[in-house]
Amino acid sequence: MDIAANLEKIQNRIHAACERAGRDPSSVELMAVSKNHPPETVAAAAALGLRLFGENKVQEARAKIPLCPGHLRWHLIGHLQSNKAKEAVQWFQMVQGVDSLALARELQKRAEAAARTLPILLEVNVAGESTKFGYRPETLLQELAALNALPRLEIHGLMCMAPYAIQPETVRPVFRRCRELARRCEELLGAPLPTLSMGMSGDFEVAIEEGSTLVRVGTSLFGERSYAARREASLAAPEDP
Ligand SMILES: *Cc1c(COP(=O)(O)O)cnc(C)c1O
Repeated sequence: MDIAANLEKIQNRIHAACERAGRDPSSVELMAVSKNHPPETVAAAAALGLRLFGENKVQEARAKIPLCPGHLRWHLIGHLQSNKAKEAVQWFQMVQGVDSLALARELQKRAEAAARTLPILLEVNVAGESTKFGYRPETLLQELAALNALPRLEIHGLMCMAPYAIQPETVRPVFRRCRELARRCEELLGAPLPTLSMGMSGDFEVAIEEGSTLVRVGTSLFGERSYAARREASLAAPEDP
């Protein structure tokens, strides 16, 4: 695994996608998705200048983050259960993937208790996949005012995951709809939503062409999440029963 070479390839692909879309490459942030990878891998990525890391499980993050360099930013990118909201507020600078008012209210309570404000992204399930978490667009529009009224939460934008596709071009409409929904939310809020978290290893170029400002890349940077790496990570951070 050559993270430096992988990173260079990813940066070249980000630049090329920005060029095609007439965008400034500095408008797209690269998140290194470090789930199932050990702290040493995070340290190696940090040594190459990466600063933003994504984890999808609170229990894995709790075991890993204290062992990583201290100057990194961490976002929770996976589905969050309300009973882990307190720890999420403790470990993460941002919670991506808020997908219900109940969860938002729990995060509000925990952020209040921690005397901090919590930046969040609202996850949308634009493709309507039953296997994925995320707001249905209509529900999001209905609940937006109530979400925005929670004083300790700062809505920075939207997050989405496209269905897996061998041809990334086929999921372009998903990213486009997410961007359009973000614009609609901006109108309703009367405030800008600067962050659109869209695109993973298989589809980040199309996502950038459709307006993504934050791409979440794991496999293209660190290689396949092997069984061995998963086992190591789960030994370090046992799953809750
Ligand atoms: C795992 C994960 C990613 C990264 O996926 P890759 O295909 O490995 O780049 C991005 N976003 C979320 C929410 C994930 O869970």
